Amino acid sequence: MGSSIDMAVSPSAASAHRPPRRIVLLGATGSIGRSTVDLLERNPRSFCVVAVAGGRDHAALARVARLVKAEFVAIRDENGYADLKAALSGTNIEVAAGREAVIEAARREADLVVSAIVGAAGVEPTHAALLAGRDVALANKECLVCAGVPFMRAAARAGARLLPMDSEHNAIFQALGGADPATIERMIITASGGPFRTWTREAITGATVEQALAHPKWSMGPKITVDSAGLMNKGLELIEAHHLFGVPAEKLDVVVHPQSIVHGLVSFADGSVTAGLAEPDMRTPIAHCLAYPERLASPSPRLDLAQIGTLTFERPDFERFPALRLALDALASGGGLPTVLNAANEIAVEGFLSRRIGFDGIARHVAGAMEAALKDGAAREPVTIEDALAIDHIVRERSRAVLAAA
Ligand code: NAD
Ligand code: MG
Repeated sequence: MGSSIDMAVSPSAASAHRPPRRIVLLGATGSIGRSTVDLLERNPRSFCVVAVAGGRDHAALARVARLVKAEFVAIRDENGYADLKAALSGTNIEVAAGREAVIEAARREADLVVSAIVGAAGVEPTHAALLAGRDVALANKECLVCAGVPFMRAAARAGARLLPMDSEHNAIFQALGGADPATIERMIITASGGPFRTWTREAITGATVEQALAHPKWSMGPKITVDSAGLMNKGLELIEAHHLFGVPAEKLDVVVHPQSIVHGLVSFADGSVTAGLAEPDMRTPIAHCLAYPERLASPSPRLDLAQIGTLTFERPDFERFPALRLALDALASGGGLPTVLNAANEIAVEGFLSRRIGFDGIARHVAGAMEAALKDGAAREPVTIEDALAIDHIVRERSRAVLAAA
């Protein structure tokens, strides 16, 4: 009969015979959501969309729900229900609104839940998906910054797989290749350096919203773009890497790499270094997660190293980018400080985007919130998700009051 080669099943042949993978997409109208939808649309036979969820934009959510033929759509903003329902009249798409509705979307029977809500708002629904035993492709890094220990514990207990969708962590996940974490010497994530990489401290202090939103390499939602401009995003990502890969803070490092081609590196006890490289396009890590462990064709640009010519690397500057230091401090101290950092940062970024505080006010506010929490015990270690959300709530309220009084 056939040789072993005849009998081998190639990844594409395997995917052609399996039923479509059932996907839930949380944060369907955002930057990650849209890139995910782009890949789903290109591969209609490989996926079916069980549910989509979004925050407030009912028109965009209705469009996505129709496009991907979702079975269920949840909008967080209850005021958006009537418009969403009207926009989907004449379809069989089930519509619901509110906090519980988003959680219900996360819990729907599915093979993979894409977690791409922005901020700590993603914690409850993503946790609900884990508790239901769903595998989760995690774009939302704030889940792990706000509630890292209980979140990872919930995944382990449920036997749910967490696939890193953040580009650096996805690169590292691929570079690790199943290596024993004990053999890892260092884990390095790269930072593009953002729009202010070469700016003086004074210039960064006076940066406008438009300047902070003009990221040189990545097109992303407004919150993560502002986080990237101050390198807070890299700090959040170190905390994310610590929890995702179980690597202690002292083995984690950041290197600034303006070309954004090398995304993450792992060095081992024998001196070997493995790295993940790709053109900066989120559809590459998203495609990796959607198809894992198979491979999905992505239209993202292909890497041509000879054409790029030069890749450069430099150390981050903690003087000009104090947010990175704050995140490293929170990671080193542990307990509830990362939760505090995350909540204070979300409110400060909102304050910056609505032009109530300056760019330098973000890190200053976060530092003040961390100090206050250390003094009054608000930074106690969160044991459960509820503990973390309680700290998050207190710090948000307090941050709003502080910024309103400023
Ligand atoms: P975005 O602002 O473009 O989109 C956010 C999405 O979340 C929208 O669909 C919005 O409607 C939804 N949303 C907001 N609040 C909600 C709530 N309370 N309930 C339900 N839905 C809500 O953000 P983004 O850039 O797509 O980022 C999403 C997440 O992915 C963030 O955590 C970010 O750090 C992470 N991430 C993004 C990128 C990127 O390239 N954009 C890369 C790596 C990681
Ligand atoms: Mg990233």
